[in-house]
Amino acid sequence: MTIKKGRFNPRKPLYFVYIAFIVMIKNIASNPQLKKIPTFVAYRAFSKASGFEKKLTYSIVNTASKRGYAAKQPPKLTSETYSYVKRDEKYKKLTTEDIEHFKNILGKKGSLITDEVASDLDFYNEDWMRKYKGQSKLVLKPTTTEQVAQIIKYCNEQNLAVCPQGGNTGLVGGSIPVFDEIILSVSNLNKIRSFDNVSGILKCDAGVILESADEYIKENGNYIFPLDLGAKGSCHVGGVVATNAGGLRLLRYGSLHGSVLGLEVVLPNGEIMNSMHSLRKDNTGYDLKQLFIGSEGTIGIITGVSILCPPRPNAFHVSFLGVESYEMVQKVFQKAKNELGEVLSAFEFMDGKSLQLTKSHITSPEPLEEEYPFYVLIETSGSNAEHDSAKLEAFLSSAFEEELVLDGTVSTNESEAKNLWSWREMIPESSAAGGGVYKYDVSLPLKDLYSLVDAVNEKLEAAGLSSVTDESKPVISAIGYGHVGDGNLHLNVAVRTYTKEVEKCLEPFVYEFVSSKKGSVSAEHGLGFQKKNYIGYSKSEQEIKMIKQLKNIYDPKGILNPYKYV
Ligand SMILES: Cc1cc2nc3c(=O)[nH]c(=O)nc-3n(C[C@H](O)[C@H](O)[C@H](O)COP(=O)(O)OP(=O)(O)OC[C@H]3O[C@@H](n4cnc5c(N)ncnc54)[C@H](O)[C@@H]3O)c2cc1C
Repeated sequence: MTIKKGRFNPRKPLYFVYIAFIVMIKNIASNPQLKKIPTFVAYRAFSKASGFEKKLTYSIVNTASKRGYAAKQPPKLTSETYSYVKRDEKYKKLTTEDIEHFKNILGKKGSLITDEVASDLDFYNEDWMRKYKGQSKLVLKPTTTEQVAQIIKYCNEQNLAVCPQGGNTGLVGGSIPVFDEIILSVSNLNKIRSFDNVSGILKCDAGVILESADEYIKENGNYIFPLDLGAKGSCHVGGVVATNAGGLRLLRYGSLHGSVLGLEVVLPNGEIMNSMHSLRKDNTGYDLKQLFIGSEGTIGIITGVSILCPPRPNAFHVSFLGVESYEMVQKVFQKAKNELGEVLSAFEFMDGKSLQLTKSHITSPEPLEEEYPFYVLIETSGSNAEHDSAKLEAFLSSAFEEELVLDGTVSTNESEAKNLWSWREMIPESSAAGGGVYKYDVSLPLKDLYSLVDAVNEKLEAAGLSSVTDESKPVISAIGYGHVGDGNLHLNVAVRTYTKEVEKCLEPFVYEFVSSKKGSVSAEHGLGFQKKNYIGYSKSEQEIKMIKQLKNIYDPKGILNPYKYV
């Protein structure tokens, strides 16, 4: 018997290789049925000095920065695809006087884009998935909060509908106008206001790109932004707050409802709510900022964010494991929580089909030599490399010994770690590369998490809509991956083309399934345009009534992000 060495061959044999080898021999000796042999397990701690964190920014981010789209074909107009949605005639149509008024507010050239050259508006009118397309004829890009306030006040007086936009990476059509709403992009509000490197409190404009904020606090005190996601090279700090994005660090740092300390918001009547506080504790009245976290541009435009950032861990480790079944994924998760404890910073899973799709889309070295039904990516991060590595060693050794894991690899340098992460983070883009993707991000009890993927595949196959090989079928396959640590499944239905028939097969089926398991129809991406009609699957009538009341109090004319949310 020989150990098959994987691609991640360390320069010299390490202690852990030895341990894995012994464990493997023991397994094989004691269990003649055991066919699977760990491809290769290598291990080395990454220190801050290795530059690991910096290089963990990889291709999807760069793609997004250059405005790569998920699908090749430009989208159809949202108003044509969803022809039951009609333009509300209460909203005024834009006039040349309005444009002149906005020019006077903005002054600076480049802060206003009209339809003089129609293609200049494409970026702002189309979403990343290329599922939605708006018909806005005007994009405004103010540079100060006061300009935002003047614009919104005027729009309110004139009944002009507005679609707030951040980095335009949202996945539910929330950042794209449905008809001719004016797009208010906060991308020119992009300054760091202050950073306190004792408390870790960052105050910045809403349009600062997430990755830039993270870089800034790293360089000015070795802190880390308490949220990370694949679109970090394009999405804004204000955008992630407006959607209450979850992402890859939620397991460790919790949700933005905990880390955001204050906001500056322009209300629909043009008033500025300044609550850019620095306090972790403040029990004086309703916590108003919470209303805007996850409000998706419906009751105010976020112009400033105050957020508490944790110290950046000094040591990171990434491992990628092959697992036999979803049941085993849960067992590995339980074990990881117990044994890795405070150093566990990410626990992601993906099914075999996710990896197969990704394989046909990217050229990075494959993490494991053989294919498995499920894969798990585990990241640990902490302040003491030796301590963390000892924990990971012990965890992986016993996971192999207990046969929870069939195969695995641990990166030995930053580029291997980056590669391992890319197999997880390139899934969204890969699943859309065949033509498009219907995306559902749902919360489900852990035991039921994967059953949705099976149910959807069965339904699509029964309807004769799905085939991996037959190109005449609209659907390639449904795949599942996500943040197991947060009970969050990403169900992606990879399609060759968007069709009504497929959408009808999926909706409301997916939402009914989630509701029957007491889950949420949106774990992260929000409601936007896509889920406006499905909020009832996750919220009670009373809750919906209160949400509508709030919208009416703050935006009685309904000028902010109409046709969406609720
Ligand atoms: C490749 C990829 C990976 C992703 N991974 C994750 C993930 O792991 N977890 C996750 O939660 N999400 C993920 N997302 C989606 C996520 O919602 C967005 O990336 C991000 O949160 C939106 O930020 P944005 O600046 O692009 O906002 P936009 O897309 O521009 O807007 C999103 C919504 O917020 C509103 N909005 C934006 N800015 C403001 C503002 N300043 N004031 C008021 N309203 C505003 C818009 O009107 C819209 O309704 C991913 C997206 C992509 C493309």
